[in-house]
Amino acid sequence: MHFEIPAPFVAVADSEQRFPVHRIYCIGRNYAAHVREMGNDPEREPPIFFLKPADAVVSGGASIPYPPRTEDLHYEVELVVAIGEGGSDISVVDAPGHVFGYATGVDLTRRDLQAAAKSKGRPWDTGKSFEKAAPVSAIHMVQDIGHPEAGRIWLAVNDEVRQDADLADMLWSVKEAIAELSTLFTLAPGDLIFTGTPAGVGALVVGDRVRCGIDGVAELNFDIC
Ligand code: MN
Repeated sequence: MHFEIPAPFVAVADSEQRFPVHRIYCIGRNYAAHVREMGNDPEREPPIFFLKPADAVVSGGASIPYPPRTEDLHYEVELVVAIGEGGSDISVVDAPGHVFGYATGVDLTRRDLQAAAKSKGRPWDTGKSFEKAAPVSAIHMVQDIGHPEAGRIWLAVNDEVRQDADLADMLWSVKEAIAELSTLFTLAPGDLIFTGTPAGVGALVVGDRVRCGIDGVAELNFDIC
């Protein structure tokens, strides 16, 4: 064989290092107000996990092409956890020691395809796991920013704020999410965890400029072309 498969990576802030991406785990339904806006009950349904392929990642503020087979591409701003030390059955107390750093990311979603899959009890892959579905800011290392547990998380489209919440509103904290995820999968260096989005999700169209950020972590900008 004479082809090369590019290795997905995310930039590391203030560093020449690149963070090589192993897997992308995502949490669904991790902010109560978003659970309600999607028609579900946060009291009855705990958060859930799904995955995106590693090569869905887009490092930094590139232009992202509007994907095929959808008429309802949605933004979801999320705190992204970069795992530096792997393991399974990680305790809540030990979880922070497994984190390399944090970033701001967007879980781009073909909402119409996801809704069709949900209604039939089918997997979400066509809605969630397409090319360039995971734009991520540079990763800021724990040694520089610590472990953000509270702070504003927001997203604006064409300078109009659409999502505005606080990390403290997550149903599963980062520590709890790592502990829970590590009972299902063996976490590895290079794993990213998208920790769920707050309320206010909505559609993007070609030409939209997306700006989002998390206080104490990073900002991310991209446009849809
Ligand atoms: Mn999401």
